[in-house]
Parts: sequence; structure tokens; C-alpha cells
Amino acid sequence: MARIVMKFGGTSMAGTERIRNVAGIVKRQQEAGHEVAVVVSAMAGETDRLVNFCREANPLFDPAEYDVVVSSGEQVTAGLLALTLQALGCQARSWLGWQMPFHTDLAHAKARIGTIETERLLASMGSGEIAVIPGFQGLSGEGRVTTLGRGGSDTSAVAVAAALKADRCDIYTDVDGVYTTDPRIVSRARKLAKVTYEEMLELASVGSKVLQTRSVGLAMKEGVRVQVLSSFVEDDSPSADELPGTLIVGDEELEGSDMERHVITGIAADKNEAKVTLTRVADRPGAVAAIFSPLAEASINVDMIIQNIAKDKGETDVTFTVPQSDLARAQAILEERQEEIGYYRLIADDNVTKISIVGVGMRSHAGVAATMFSTLAERAINIQAISTSEIKVSVLINADETELAVRVLHTAYGLDAA
Ligand code: ADP
Ligand code: ASP
Ligand code: MG
Repeated sequence: MARIVMKFGGTSMAGTERIRNVAGIVKRQQEAGHEVAVVVSAMAGETDRLVNFCREANPLFDPAEYDVVVSSGEQVTAGLLALTLQALGCQARSWLGWQMPFHTDLAHAKARIGTIETERLLASMGSGEIAVIPGFQGLSGEGRVTTLGRGGSDTSAVAVAAALKADRCDIYTDVDGVYTTDPRIVSRARKLAKVTYEEMLELASVGSKVLQTRSVGLAMKEGVRVQVLSSFVEDDSPSADELPGTLIVGDEELEGSDMERHVITGIAADKNEAKVTLTRVADRPGAVAAIFSPLAEASINVDMIIQNIAKDKGETDVTFTVPQSDLARAQAILEERQEEIGYYRLIADDNVTKISIVGVGMRSHAGVAATMFSTLAERAINIQAISTSEIKVSVLINADETELAVRVLHTAYGLDAA
């Protein structure tokens, strides 16, 4: 017998028919002899709808009341799944964030997880009940409902799996695993049997939204065994125990297991970046700090940065990227400080995409980035900025060329499915 946490995303929970399908999958896991806890998302589109209600009610909404509204989507699906499981003859009970409780800090709308109390949950599971837990929501130290940020149910599931010391955390979604790139964009994408925590962390953070980045970081830290798999399956499909999806594993589990592994594991595109260029910035100590310190104070994350070499007048251009949602704020902050920073013009462009290639194989192979640059050059795709980490290379390109770039890189690194 194993202890399994199963998480079902929005498309899997979209309507009573889909919930019946989910209940069937859960029941089969219990019948296989496992102790199961289930974490659910709101129905697809529901959280967006609730967010819009908040905006309509009060554009400057109070995050504490926003949490009251948006956490309700998961309350509905948790109750509905418990009811559906009961209709199938299972014992099932829902556990809302405040009932466990699932403790978080006070940062409404982006709360960090504290401890999760498991005593009552374990007692219920021990008595044969299936525990159904709404994802995304928690309880603050002030006794108010909190939420973990968009896509947070993945993180809830991993946190519950860690707290319960579960043998596995199965993340059920609308694709049957993690692919070399988004299979909805590139039809030749290939499913990966295994991917390392580190690679998945990089892929998620650069735009592969199949898992919330935080959930991967938490799984890595807590050593939670995560599988990504599809809930859109037939009754006679292989069970989750046969590991039909993608397993997220430590480096050591990967080594030697896949001789055919490519240098690049995956490619991701992120359209949520915007580019800012400040022209003719004085080339003197402190100039760059004067640009980036006020952005940091405003909690604006700067990602890629390029500073050109100073020309004869001792001036240089500085280009960087910020999240598109923060562009207007970044512009306002920098325009307010134009004199202090000492630049000539601010040019903003949000029609850009960040394309990233990720793979642990980069550590031992030279020329990986060069292949990326020459492949894009052959298609006359201009690179506007570059950034790298140990296992990742990212380039910024014109957004209109996103799909072409991902496709040609996918082919160039030998990732296309046969
Ligand atoms: P859920 O509602 O189950 O949480 P998401 O929409 O958050 O599902 O995540 C699943 C989606 O992630 C897929 O439909 C797919 O389009 C997208 N996706 C992006 N990159 C990848 C990738 N590399 N592999 C698999 N899916 C990906
Ligand atoms: N329902 C929440 C959202 O859409 C959390 C989640 O589904 O992961 O962001
Ligand atoms: Mg998701």
C-alpha cells in the first residue's frame, strides 16, 4: 500500500461530467489498495471569472477580500468531488484550508505556506475516507482565508504530499506528461519519461506552465516524487502506478537511465516579458544602480540585462526586460527619475518573446548556445537580448516569430518526434 496525493487541474474538474471521470480515477487508486488524498482546482475559467468580479466591484481591491472571493472556486469543486465519490460508494470528506488547517503567512493573494496540520487528515484517511482538499487556499495567522497565487493548486498538492510523507504526488492535467515543448503549439513535441527537478524548475520559470514554478521548487526541496499525467483516459488505460506520465526526479535517478537523452531537454516560450531600453545613460559608477534600485524597491523583477559598451561621449544604452504586467509601473518609475538617472530616451516594447532552451546536458557539451544563435540566424530571426544559466540559454526575439523559432530550434536539437 502506498500513500498517494492526486491533484486535478481546472480542465479535469470542468463540470459534473468531468468530475465523475475524476472520481472514477480516484476510486480506482483506492481500490488498488492506496491511501489517497485529492487536491482540486476550480473549474477551468472560474478563477478568471471571480477575479473579474473583484475588479468590477472595486478596481483597488483589498487582497484579503479578493482571497475570500477567488478561493471559493476550489471550495465548490472539493465539495462536488466528495459528493460524486460518495455517489460511487466511496467514503469521502472535504477539508477546506481552515479545517486542516493549511497555515500560510499573511501575504494575501500570494501567500507562502507554513505548516500543514495532518493529524485530522490522517485519522480520516486511516479510517478509509478519501480526503478531498481544495487547492490554492490556506489560513493566515489572523484566521483569514489566503490564496497562494495563480496556478497555486500544484503547490498545494506538493505541500500536502510533503506533509503527509506521501509516496507520490500525481498531477493530473489535460496533457499526458511533460513534453519537449508545449504540445499544443508544436505537434512534433515528444513526451519525456523523466525530467530532473532542476530542468523542470527552469522550464516552468521560463514559460512551461504545465506546473507552477513554486511547486517544482518545493518538490525539489522536500524530495517529493512528482508525476505529471493525463486525466483524460479510458477506464482500461494503464494505472498511475505504472508511471505512464512524466516523472520528475533527482539527477542521480536520471544518470545512465536514458542513453539516448539529448543535450537539450526542453524549449519554452514566454510572451509575458516586455523590453525597456534607456538610451545614452552616463557611463559612470552608480548609473546602473540608479536604474535598478528603484525597480527592485517596487518589487519589479528585472530579468535580462544588456549594457552596450560606452561610445566616445561616455554614454551607453541599457536594455532590460520586466514582466509585461509591470511595464507601465516600471516606465512611470524611470520617467520620474529621468534627470537623476541621466538618460535621453526610454523606449518600451512589449511585442517580444523570451525563448529558452533547457537541459542538464549543457554542463558537459560545448557549442549548445552557438547552435541556438546560428539556427535563429538562418531563419533571419534577430536576437535582441541573451541570458544564460548553467542549464539554460534564453534569447529575446520579436513575438511574431515565436512559433517559427520554437519549431526550428526543436528540430535543430533533434527533439522532433519520429
Ligand atoms: P491544469 O489546469 O491541469 O493545471 P495547465 O493549463 O496549468 O493545466 O497546464 C497544462 C498545459 O500546459 C497544457 O495544456 C499545455 O498546453 C501546457 N504546456 C506548456 N508547456 C508544456 C510542456 N512542455 N509539456 C506539457 N504541457 C505544456
Ligand atoms: N484556480 C487557481 C487558478 O486558476 C489555482 C489553480 O488552479 O492552480 O489560478
Ligand atoms: Mg496548472
